Amino acid sequence: MRVPPRALLTEVNGLLHDFYAEHDMADFRAALGLIAKHYGITRPRIRWRQAIEDHDVWGLTFNTNRVHLYHPRYWARRPKWPTDERNWLLTFWHEMYHVVTFFEDEKRADRFAALAMED
Ligand SMILES: [Zn+2]
Repeated sequence: MRVPPRALLTEVNGLLHDFYAEHDMADFRAALGLIAKHYGITRPRIRWRQAIEDHDVWGLTFNTNRVHLYHPRYWARRPKWPTDERNWLLTFWHEMYHVVTFFEDEKRADRFAALAMED
């Protein structure tokens, strides 16, 4: 799966950055809406987690278009590092790979996330 065009990535990452800092759901919804529109998918439903039982799991995507993510408020309190904004964003894009492709290929999801975060 190809990452969106650079201009769209910049816009989406900017909205996600603002959401991470200020927790305004309008920013997050706008980012998710742009991704869904670009890939022609239904906007996934997000469940915000304070914690995920398996500390090695950073996010979860279910095949019914549901995604569990750490809310930024709790991301920094994860029991395991890294807990910075960049890794929250990488986790977001990793899960978006699963949402769009329905593949469980972790290496490809990581590669997609890294490409989406390239400057
Ligand atoms: Zn994954």
